[in-house]
Amino acid sequence: ALAVPDKQVPSVCPYCGVGCQLTYNVKDGKILFVEGRDGPSNHKRLCVKGRYGFDYANHPQRLTVPLIRRKDAPKVADAEMDPDRLMDIFREASWEEALEFAGGTLAKLRDTHGPKSLAGFGSAKGSNEEAYLFQKLVRTGFRSNNVDHCTRLCHASSVVALLEGIGSGAVSNPVMDVTRAEVVIVIGANPTVNHPVAATWIKNAVKNGTKLIVMDPRKSDLYRHAHRYLQFKPDTDVAMLNAMMYVIVHEGLVDEAFIASRTIGYEDLKKNVEGYSPEAMAPICGIDAETLRYTARLYASSKGSMILWGMGVSQHIHGTDNARCLIALALMTGQIGRPGTGLHPLRGQNNVQGASDAGLIPMMYPDYQRVVDPAARARFERAWQLPAGTLDDQPGLTVVEVMHAIKAGTVKGMYVMGENPAMSDPDANHARESLAALEHLVVQDIFLTETAYLADVILPAGAFPEKTGTFTNTDRLVQMGRQAIDPPGDAKQDLWIIQEIGKRLGLPWNYGHVSEVFDEMRHTMPSIAGITWERLEREHAVTYPCREEDDPGEPVVFVEDFPREGGRGRFVPADIIPADERPDTEFPMVLITGRQLEHWHTGSMTRRATMLDAIEPDPVALIHPLDVEQLGIRPGDVVTIESRRGSVSLYARADDSSPRGAVFVPFCYYEAAANKLTNAALDPFAKIPEFKYCAVRLTPG
Ligand code: SF4
Repeated sequence: ALAVPDKQVPSVCPYCGVGCQLTYNVKDGKILFVEGRDGPSNHKRLCVKGRYGFDYANHPQRLTVPLIRRKDAPKVADAEMDPDRLMDIFREASWEEALEFAGGTLAKLRDTHGPKSLAGFGSAKGSNEEAYLFQKLVRTGFRSNNVDHCTRLCHASSVVALLEGIGSGAVSNPVMDVTRAEVVIVIGANPTVNHPVAATWIKNAVKNGTKLIVMDPRKSDLYRHAHRYLQFKPDTDVAMLNAMMYVIVHEGLVDEAFIASRTIGYEDLKKNVEGYSPEAMAPICGIDAETLRYTARLYASSKGSMILWGMGVSQHIHGTDNARCLIALALMTGQIGRPGTGLHPLRGQNNVQGASDAGLIPMMYPDYQRVVDPAARARFERAWQLPAGTLDDQPGLTVVEVMHAIKAGTVKGMYVMGENPAMSDPDANHARESLAALEHLVVQDIFLTETAYLADVILPAGAFPEKTGTFTNTDRLVQMGRQAIDPPGDAKQDLWIIQEIGKRLGLPWNYGHVSEVFDEMRHTMPSIAGITWERLEREHAVTYPCREEDDPGEPVVFVEDFPREGGRGRFVPADIIPADERPDTEFPMVLITGRQLEHWHTGSMTRRATMLDAIEPDPVALIHPLDVEQLGIRPGDVVTIESRRGSVSLYARADDSSPRGAVFVPFCYYEAAANKLTNAALDPFAKIPEFKYCAVRLTPG
């Protein structure tokens, strides 16, 4: 007979930033199945990950007891991980012993080598409260700003450009506004794979008459629904976008009233785009001049045009410049500040927006208050009851900078909660060597990740459905995730573990319930001041900015002004900067990394979800059919991909979504970790690595 749930728990999806609401149907402490709820961003829709990717929580490889590395077990950076030989390397420990060892050793390193000898990576998969408490632990327990998380690897460049240009790093309009737009541009994003339910709203909008322009070197599924598809050459975003601006300026399509009343810096931008005529840029970006002109006219002259973008824009050494161009397009045409217009960087993880808002970044406190601002420091010292002058006044190290600092010997201890830098960092061999070189590495996670394999102590944490907390989706919607089942064995919820580590660092913390942390957050973050815990329990989801308890929240912002000095948006011109590493005779192809529909980021959850793993079980490289032929292999054969930093072997899949000369590799497969190949060169403004472009060679076998 079919099992009937004995409990139904309303929650949200643990995967992407769309933030679909769902119901966990539970029986005897296990999730039986998941259903979509009528949430603002999904209206009962779920994708394959949200619907079927839940049984990782019951996987036999869950960590259930604290583990301490055996004294005779060396850390081998390039060792093949074998979960079955876990106990050869680690021994079980009580929570008391593990916490004393974890927190006590961090405290000793801090006291011996100074606050900057420690660093912490939090997680965009954790709740807002966990992110807030984790950054507070680093800032007040480690006493530095060396705290970061994977936002550095996804939209850091978008956020830098948005803060600079319009004063807010979050989206101006929700995804659902595509249904109100006349024209939608999707650039450098593959929503069908990475934000699947958002993709369905885009397709619905097209059906109702919205003109979709897809711009991407890779032919993502959305191109089938597009009015125009601009398959520009990889790495040529600035050339293409400046050419569109050239057309808008030269054909008088600018919104002069908007520019005059709401922006600064237009004359500089206008002068800069003079060198970027469509005719001059066509051979560079691979899009003919007439298509560039047509697209520019369409975007500028519609009643409402909206731009959504992803990591194809942000993950370049010129990611900030790419985003600056998108912002300039919106400002010069007045396509922002109304429903059906605006700028929407599609957020990746389910809480990457909230974790950044909560201050899990090295240069800003919660609500983007800068650590270099004496007034902001004084505010947080008062809020956290610290003596004046306690907080570090310098920005901390970013994700990739921490790895270099370990190699240089300045960072000696780390606390990593729910992130997997051994898989997600660029030049992963270098990252693994760094992690192995740490004097003390504390990892808090639900599985033995590739990072945990290099730890001195592993703290077993609760998975998503095993805890309650708030999560902020790509639309700035704060939603409640609720506990449906208990953590297995002796695993504990993250918030409890952070607090216990904090106590070992001398912090006098005593938070009883997660709502107490949320309450403290809203008293330090004006943007969410009007969102109470009770309100979230009642309404399930509230959009920020929400400053008063009777404020309904603002899905569309910048209606009258921008939250910048003088209320005006700022144009920032951008010029062409080539990728850090170009193809050459030795490494003649381009590598593009990314995700697959069925797997999420480093795969620690989805590869342990039965259905998802069954659909995509093995590492693959997506190669243009003609390139496969030229290699002299057949689809399904093993191919080796090498870069100057490493090599991986995986199965070749003939796929014409990749342009000729470019190979796409998902970064979720530990057997063929794509990031062993990637380049750690950074965008100078946002310190985001160039995941979307490096030189590789392919050989059969
Ligand atoms: Fe989850 Fe994103 Fe899929 Fe929605 S679209 S079910 S949030 S992975």
